[in-house]
Amino acid sequence: MKIYDFVVVGAGPSGSYTAFKLSRVGFKVLVIDKYEFPRDKLCGGCLSKRIEGFIPQGLKNLVKNEIKGGTIGYRGSSYITKFSDDTIAYIIHRRDFDNFLLESARESGAEFIPACEFESFITDKDWIKVHTSKGVFFTKYLVGADGFYSKVLKRLGFKRRKYYRAVEVFIKGELSERVIIELGYVKRGYLWVFPSGEGTVSVGIASTGSENIALILRDYVERKFGVKDVRCKGWFIPFSEKAEDINTGKGNILLVGDSANMTDPLLGEGIFYGLWGGELLFKSALKDFDYVWEYYMDYVRKEMVPEFVYAGKIASLAYRFQKVAFRMGRGKALERYIDLLKGIRGYKHIYRRGLIDFFLSLLG
Ligand SMILES: Cc1cc2nc3c(=O)[nH]c(=O)nc-3n(C[C@H](O)[C@H](O)[C@H](O)COP(=O)(O)OP(=O)(O)OC[C@H]3O[C@@H](n4cnc5c(N)ncnc54)[C@H](O)[C@@H]3O)c2cc1C
Repeated sequence: MKIYDFVVVGAGPSGSYTAFKLSRVGFKVLVIDKYEFPRDKLCGGCLSKRIEGFIPQGLKNLVKNEIKGGTIGYRGSSYITKFSDDTIAYIIHRRDFDNFLLESARESGAEFIPACEFESFITDKDWIKVHTSKGVFFTKYLVGADGFYSKVLKRLGFKRRKYYRAVEVFIKGELSERVIIELGYVKRGYLWVFPSGEGTVSVGIASTGSENIALILRDYVERKFGVKDVRCKGWFIPFSEKAEDINTGKGNILLVGDSANMTDPLLGEGIFYGLWGGELLFKSALKDFDYVWEYYMDYVRKEMVPEFVYAGKIASLAYRFQKVAFRMGRGKALERYIDLLKGIRGYKHIYRRGLIDFFLSLLG
C-alpha cells in the first residue's frame, strides 16, 4: 500500500505552492483537483510585489501589467493618485498563474490527478484514508486547499463565518500601470478597477453587506465605461481579523489559503497569504514531521495573525468613515500602503502611523 506524506486537495495557488515546497525537499506529495487544468478562476489577478519572495522563477513571463501606482476614489467623483518609482504589484491571469504553480509542483516531483473530487476521509492511527471520485488514497497528512466551499473544512465540522461577497466583470478599457480603488459605494467594502492586459479591465465590488452589488457594478460600468447591462460573475472571499477566525485544521488534517480564511480583511487579498500559509506549513514539516499541525498553528498565530488583526482594525475604521479614509489618501496613507505592497512594512506600521492622520482627517 502506497502512503503519501501529504495529499493536497485543490490545485489553486495555496495547494500548488504548498505541494511545490514540500515535494522539492523530497516529501511524497499527491495533489488532486476537481477540474482539469488549466482552468479559469474568478479573480482580479492582482499580486502585491512582496509575493516575489515566494514565487518560483518565471513569474515575469506571466505578467500582463506592472503596477506602479494607485488611485483612490470616492463615489466616482473625487480622485487622488500616487505613483511609486518602481513596481508595487503585478497583474496576472489566474488561468496561467495557477497552471504555472501546478507545473512547478509537478516538476518538483508532486503527482497530480485532475478531475478528481475529494469526498471524505477516515483517520487511522498511522494514516488517513482519503475517498475521492477517482478512488482511495492513503496519506500521513491531508491538506485542505480547496477554497471557499472547502469540503475538508466541512468534514472537520467547521463552518465559514466572515466573508466578502464579490462580483466582477471583464470589459474593454484602457488603464495602465495603476489600479483604482473606489470608496463610498458599499457599507463595508470597495469597488476596484484593475488593468487586465490586452485592452481589458477588471471591474469588481467586494462587500460584507447585503447591497445589490451586481446592480451597483452595472451602474458604475455604464457610467464610467459606457457599457450597458454587463453580466457579472460572483464568488466569496473568506477573511480573518482575529486569531480565532483563522482555521489551520486539526491533528493530521491541515488547512491553507481560502479554506483556512487566510485572506486580508481590508482588501481581500488572498493569493499572497495563501502562499505564505504554504510556506509556514512547509517550515513546520521540516521542523518536525510528527508535529506539523502544532508548529503550523504556532507559526500562523505568531506571524500571520497579527497582520490580519491590524488590517481588521484599519478596515473597521476605514469602512465606517469612508470619506475620511479617502481624504487620508492626500497625506501619507497611500504611500504607506504602497510600502506594504512592496513588502517594506506591515499592517501594524500602517495602523500605528495612520491613527494620528485619521483623527486629524476627522477634523476635516
Ligand atoms: C472576484 C474576486 C476577485 C479577487 N481578486 C483578488 C486579487 O486581485 N488578488 C488576490 O490576491 N486575491 C484576490 N481574490 C482572492 C483569491 O481569489 C483567493 O484568495 C485565492 O484564489 C485563494 O487561493 P486558494 O488556492 O486558497 O483557493 P482557490 O483558488 O479557490 O483554489 C481551490 C481549488 O480547490 C479545488 N477544489 C475545490 N473543492 C474541491 C474538491 N472537493 N475536490 C478537489 N478539488 C477541489 C478547486 O477546483 C480549486 O482549483 C479575489 C477573489 C474574488 C472572488
